Amino acid sequence: MPILCFDLFSILKGYIFTGCFSKIAIYNCRVFPKAMITIVGAGPAGSYLAYLLAKQGKEVTVLEEHSVVGSPVQCTGIVTHSIENFFKLKKEVVAKILNKVIVVSKNNKIEVNVDEIVVWRDKFDRFVADMAQKEGAEVLLNHHFVGFNGSNSIKVKDKKNNKIKDVKTDIVVGADGPYSSVAKAAGMNSNSKNYIGMQAKVKLGMDTTAFETYFGSGFPSFFGWCVPESEDTARLGIGCFENARWHFYNFLKSRTGKKDILCWESGLIPLYDPKKVIQKGNVYLIGDAAAQVKATTGGGIIPSLKAAQTLCDCIVNNKDYNKEFRRQSGRELLLHLRIRNVLNKFSDKDYDKLLNLMSQEKVRKILKKYDRDTPIPLVTNLLVKEPRFLYFSKMLFN
Ligand SMILES: Cc1cc2nc3c(=O)[nH]c(=O)nc-3n(C[C@H](O)[C@H](O)[C@H](O)COP(=O)(O)OP(=O)(O)OC[C@H]3O[C@@H](n4cnc5c(N)ncnc54)[C@H](O)[C@@H]3O)c2cc1C
Repeated sequence: MPILCFDLFSILKGYIFTGCFSKIAIYNCRVFPKAMITIVGAGPAGSYLAYLLAKQGKEVTVLEEHSVVGSPVQCTGIVTHSIENFFKLKKEVVAKILNKVIVVSKNNKIEVNVDEIVVWRDKFDRFVADMAQKEGAEVLLNHHFVGFNGSNSIKVKDKKNNKIKDVKTDIVVGADGPYSSVAKAAGMNSNSKNYIGMQAKVKLGMDTTAFETYFGSGFPSFFGWCVPESEDTARLGIGCFENARWHFYNFLKSRTGKKDILCWESGLIPLYDPKKVIQKGNVYLIGDAAAQVKATTGGGIIPSLKAAQTLCDCIVNNKDYNKEFRRQSGRELLLHLRIRNVLNKFSDKDYDKLLNLMSQEKVRKILKKYDRDTPIPLVTNLLVKEPRFLYFSKMLFN
């Protein structure tokens, strides 16, 4: 049921609260809301937060501008098994389990054992949104957040009839991705940088138990990836700050020998910004809207689920989200950012050298034991077992 409706209960609530009929008249002409918390965006961040808040008995409405949750897809969908700290994935959501990553530099190539899950991103988003709905959250499709109308009201466009309505709400959460309109409207847009994540589904038969990552001068400031989706299709992509199309096609041609694509799945990948303001009064940001992304890999699904737990606690217990998020996730995301800054100074030779160190059995064991969602023990153990990794730390200060 839409939130923008006159329901008897709401009108009575207004009457009991104010004890006067004139207030009801005001509600009648302005449209009385049901939602107390409005989350803009039904991606993983918004839907998981809605689920957690609804579980706490909060009245939550999620506004999603598209006509279905999870589409269009702009993601590779790789997650570590840390996803199981949040929920058990349904079988239909899992596209592949991968147990190897092939890491390629200009003159080197190694294989490392891993244990990774590839999800169908559209099904995954719907799975999380279903969880939220089952807990009682309302998910309104075709509803586009337009802007604020004072401190306790927002403007929402119903895309079915193109009408803009005012919705009263106590709290607004911008879970609306890297282009966040909520952040812009609330004056919380920072100068954070975004990678262009250029990805396409391509026809390619590859080992369906392994994914590939590519590093070096052909992939400036980030990396390239090729991830099997089915027997004869793969998600091939690169991230970079500029000339994305050019780098993408070079990679596509060198990896597949062709320049054909089945469909584009590109989008922006925010670079974590430790100074970003993510709460301003009753407005909060989460997920890509808050740049809560691992700068090493561009992975944002697990950080956004973790952030949802933090934000739910902050809303329920009236805590400072700017501080709490930094306390709970800031150190890890900052470590990813520092590693990214070091990697961005690597030459082709440095990558070759890094892969040599990574190919040792003692290092492989650590890479298998600690996933990238726990970067602090991962890096600490790597440095203890193989101090030659410290060679690269000089680039922190160059
Ligand atoms: C090419 C590419 C590959 C990636 N690969 C991976 C990967 O393998 N693993 C990983 O963990 N991460 C990956 N990411 C990152 C990951 O996709 C994001 O971090 C993640 O989707 C963030 O979730 P979110 O809920 O914050 O935002 P989104 O998933 O972007 O969801 C935002 C939602 O808000 C809606 N919305 C936007 N504006 C409005 C509005 N004004 N009104 C109403 N609704 C609105 C959108 O329609 C959307 O549904 C990749 C990203 C890209 C671009």
